[in-house]
Formats: sequence, C-alpha cells, structure tokens
Amino acid sequence: MQSIYSITYQKLVDILEKNSFKKFRADQIFEWLYQKKVNSFEEMTNINNDLRTFLQNNFYFNSLKIVALNEDVDVKKVLYELSDSNRIESVLMYQNYGKSLCVSSQVGCNMGCTFCESGRLKKIKNLSIDEMVLQLLQIEEKITHVVLMGIGEPLDNFDNVMDFINILTDYRAFNIGSRHITLSTCGIVDKINQLHLYNNQINLAISLHAPNNELRSKLMPINKAYPLEVLMSSLKKYIKITNRRVTFEYVMIKGVNDQIEHAKQLAILIKGMNAYVNLIPYNETSHIEFKKSEKTTILQFYDILKKNKINVTVRKEFGTKVKAACGQLRSNYEESND
Ligand code: SAH
Repeated sequence: MQSIYSITYQKLVDILEKNSFKKFRADQIFEWLYQKKVNSFEEMTNINNDLRTFLQNNFYFNSLKIVALNEDVDVKKVLYELSDSNRIESVLMYQNYGKSLCVSSQVGCNMGCTFCESGRLKKIKNLSIDEMVLQLLQIEEKITHVVLMGIGEPLDNFDNVMDFINILTDYRAFNIGSRHITLSTCGIVDKINQLHLYNNQINLAISLHAPNNELRSKLMPINKAYPLEVLMSSLKKYIKITNRRVTFEYVMIKGVNDQIEHAKQLAILIKGMNAYVNLIPYNETSHIEFKKSEKTTILQFYDILKKNKINVTVRKEFGTKVKAACGQLRSNYEESND
C-alpha cells in the first residue's frame, strides 16, 4: 500500500498497464486528485468497479493535520502534523509575481550549519513524496512558485524530492513550470552532479555563506566533505550542461562573513560564472549568538560585488513577525507551546 499522492504519472501508468488497465485511466485519476481534488476513490465516478477495487487495494488517501496557521500581510505559515506525529512547516509568501510556497523536505536536518536554527534538531526522517505534495494540496491556494528552502536538505532526500518535482511540473497535477521551482542546497556535490538528469530547468540555489574554505568549514560542516573548489567545478559543469544561471545565497552575519575582504574574495570566486548573489540579512534567533550585519555593511558588501561586475541583490525579508523567516521554522512554535 502506498499513498495515492506519492505516485508520479509515469509510475501510475506503469502499474496500471502491468495490471491490464488502460493508460488513459491514469489521466482520469490525476484529474480527480489534482484538479477536482476529491478525497476518495468512490468519488471518481468515471472509474469502473474493477479499477476502483484495484486502487483501493493498492493505494490509500491521506492528509496532514493543520495544527496552527499564522498570518501576516505578506506571509502565511502553516504548521502541519504528520501521521507519525512529527511536525513540519510550510510558508506561503505573497510575492508581487505570484504565490510562492516554501516547502520542507525533512523532519530536522543533519547538515549542522552553525547559524541555522532548523539544524539544531537532527534529522528524524526524510519526508515522503506525499508529505511534500500534501503541503501544497492542503494550503488551498493556487501556488505559482515552489521553493525547497524549508526545513531539511533536499538533496539529502534526493529520490523523493525528484519525484516530488516531477509531480509539481506535471501538467496533469500542479502544472508548475520548472523555472518557477527553486531547490536550495548546502552543496552535496555528488547529487548536484546528477540533478540535470532528472530536471535541467529548475533554479538551483547554493547556500554559500563564505568565500573561503577556512570560514566555510567553520560555518558549514558539509564544506569538509565538498570543499569550495570541488563545489565550484561541479557548478561550472552544471551551468555548462543546463545553460541555467545559478544563485548563491549569502547570509550576512555581523563580523563573521561580512567584511570587505570577504566581498573581494567572493567576487574572485565567482567571477565569470553565469551566477548571481543573493545577500540575505541574517535572521537572528534566540538560541544562536550570531547577529545580523548592519545595513551599511550589507550595502558596502553589495557595492564591492557590483563594482566587480557580479550580479547581486539583497533579499526582501519575509515573515519575521510570524517567525516564519529562514532557519527558524518549527522551533519557535515548540517553545511558545511547551
Ligand atoms: N538545506 C538547504 C535548504 C534549507 S535552508 C540549504 O542549505 O540551502 C534555506 C536557506 O536559509 C539556506 O540558505 C540557509 O543557509 C538559510 N538560513 C538558515 N538559517 C538562517 C538564518 N538564521 N537567517 C537567514 N538565513 C538562514
């Protein structure tokens, strides 16, 4: 038995055909699931009894429990409870270009980035495909963009995340264009190397956060396994194969990675690459001593990159009021509700 929300169109076709059902039945089932959004096989009125029994014997419907909903002018944060009682969060951001959902891919995270609140809880499990699909389905809004930037490291849950992206882009399901999907990773190089085989059009964002190995290894343990030169050469290959621009996310932490020297090193590191840098003011959290860089420091950093002809933007801060900002999902809720 598996959740009906965990199957890609092609896999459903394969199962149906193997059991002598026609391929077009998969189209009908997807329409019931993702357009008409029914919650049972009984409601699929154009499905005959044989197939209905087959589906009932092989698939089940499930849902996530909505435990809390927090709204602000520009965001809506949903806390979901999974059937195993673990909790995850999704954040909906009302952008000027559409509705963007920030999806979690794991419960906890093993990457151990020192500045990140989510990583204080070690990985409990990878989210299943349906647990990611349901984060969208249950928000009951027409999502136009998806960012895999919630809790967890998406490339540490590679197979499920690839199938999830398949369902997101399938025109019979969510019909979200690959270019409206962003996957953010701390830099698991052997998975970055495979990514283009599954989808070569999504936006790839790399959490860089430091321009040299010494500092990056202190902030992000993954850098010891895949140091900057290895990461950069993998990304250059990725850009060559996909012809897509990659994003470097750079969290600005006061006195840690925001000095003039760092900006100069960063410019040298990515010069000539089809890439741009997104500077993110560090979001302070109560458990971690790091502080946000001063506005003037961020602007100075920005100017140095600009002068060196690096494409750079400063990220708008979302959801700080409802504690839905980067790196602080989940843990605040647990605290205020203990
Ligand atoms: N594991 C993935 C995606 C999840 S984190 C990754 O590492 O990219 C999404 C982004 O938020 C990452 O760039 C992460 O480094 C950043 N982040 C974590 N804690 C933050 C904080 N306190 N303030 C701002 N950004 C933070």
